[in-house]
Parts: sequence; structure tokens; C-alpha cells
Amino acid sequence: MNRRRKFLLASVLALQNSSFIYPSCQKCFSRILLVSKRSNCPKCGSTGEAENASYRYKLALKVAESNKLFGITVFGSCLDAFFGLTATGLHRILKANIDKVQVPVTSSSAQTTREKLKR
Ligand SMILES: [Zn+2]
Repeated sequence: MNRRRKFLLASVLALQNSSFIYPSCQKCFSRILLVSKRSNCPKCGSTGEAENASYRYKLALKVAESNKLFGITVFGSCLDAFFGLTATGLHRILKANIDKVQVPVTSSSAQTTREKLKR
């Protein structure tokens, strides 16, 4: 892992990933696999209960600074202040409300959007 840190003052143009939290290993921060009720880290071999898995932010952003475009990825608890809670806390809320936050995309609305884009 690259430990060098740089300060970048830039404008965020787009969020590149729709899934911006992931279940992470508490030892090495790698993505863990959740299989039935167990969690398993493919990198360090750490195992645990799936329901105790902690989550981590991973925001892939397209940003602009001066006249340059960058793709950057922001990881971890530095984003807690931005979201107002930890990634694990956000995951709990999303999991409890998953039926309420999913917006069905109907074919007619997709069609309308496509027609608008053609104009
Ligand atoms: Zn690990």
C-alpha cells in the first residue's frame, strides 16, 4: 500500500462507484467474503461472524483541479465526518431500510430518459 499522502484541493465531478462501502477485514482492511454466516479474508486468512463484519468507505471519484482531470479513490474513516457516521453504521441503516431506498426503474421511465438524451 502506498503510504504517501498528498493534499488535493479539487472539484468533484462524479462518483465512479455506486457501491461505496465494502465489508472489510479488521486486520488488513482488504475486502472480506461473506459466505452464509461467516466472513473470510482472502488476503490474510482472518475469519469471523458475518454479522459482526465492519464496513469501510471506498469512494472512487472523478475530480478536476486546474485544467486536469484525476481519478482518485478515498478510503476509510477520513470519510466518517463527511457522511456523519461510520461506514458500519451506514451499512446498518441501509440494511434495515433496503426496501424503502430501492427505487424501481421502469422501462417507460428509461425510455423517456433515452428520448430526452437524443434531443
Ligand atoms: Zn485480512
